[in-house]
Amino acid sequence: MQSDPEHLSDADAADAVRIMVKEVRQRLESLLRAGVKEVPFAPVFARRAPGARTASGPDAAGFAAEGDPGTILPAAPSSPAPAIPQPTVAPRPEGRPAPARPAAPAAATAPAASFFQESGFDSPALAAAERLVVLKDLAEEAAGCRKCPELVAYRTRTVFADGDPNARLMFIGEAPGADEDRTGRPFVGKAGQLLTDMITKGMGLKRDEVYIANILKCRPPENRPPQPEESANCIHFLERQIEVVRPEFLCLLGRTAAVGVLKTGLSMGRLRGKWYRYRGIPTIATYHPSYLLRTPSAKKEAWEDLQLLMTAMGLRIPPRKKDQD
Ligand code: SF4
Repeated sequence: MQSDPEHLSDADAADAVRIMVKEVRQRLESLLRAGVKEVPFAPVFARRAPGARTASGPDAAGFAAEGDPGTILPAAPSSPAPAIPQPTVAPRPEGRPAPARPAAPAAATAPAASFFQESGFDSPALAAAERLVVLKDLAEEAAGCRKCPELVAYRTRTVFADGDPNARLMFIGEAPGADEDRTGRPFVGKAGQLLTDMITKGMGLKRDEVYIANILKCRPPENRPPQPEESANCIHFLERQIEVVRPEFLCLLGRTAAVGVLKTGLSMGRLRGKWYRYRGIPTIATYHPSYLLRTPSAKKEAWEDLQLLMTAMGLRIPPRKKDQD
């Protein structure tokens, strides 16, 4: 990986341009599908001074500023990040009625709103083949990690990730359970089956089209929630995974994931249904599939959250059954 973008070889520079063009095209297509017709561009392409950093880590990275309906706003690179990310309202396509849920105040608008956001990453995006290599090295590093003695004594193996390292969408959960610890794959038990259904039957994607990871790579004893120090020990693996995969969207499953990524103390009930940014990446939070298994009444809200995500991604939302009758 090139560590100094100012001194790329011709081949690496050409590769970087190809990746940039692909990402810009994907983002424009996503905007078009979301019904956005115009985008301001001047500040977005302003070149950062060599060595300048707009953020030094995820909790200092650009979370969303408040927004108005139909936009996901860029965080101002020079502004200090808020301690708790402020919600924005998800974009919706033309003709689709506004969601019934309460939204950010209509007056809280910014004049030059845009989906575009200066990347919160200092490193250039990696080519597909490089992503595989870097993630494999990272998984091996995690497998040898012994930072959490209790988890190391309890785990059968580490559970690093599953899915496409070039995915548009990354799901982030809490920690491996018994089935995951046995197989080495995240989300393969009952909760995993529900997540797979949400991805395939709900969103119309294949499971291997998305990337799935957890805050912790090791199973906590008796499936207890991760301790704060364990999350702190492990979060750098996830941060690197996000940086390498660099998805267009993040979906945080459950409060542990939201706490780990957004550094917020809010409940999932208050977090869900709104957009945030993690290092420039539009991010949404919803209930963990395990919670949905225990609380089926929350599935309706989780489906609403998935629809926000699908709208932003330009995915077709299936008509409600009663609309088909
Ligand atoms: S949970 Fe993460 S930090 Fe802790 S031992 Fe496992 S890999 Fe290391």
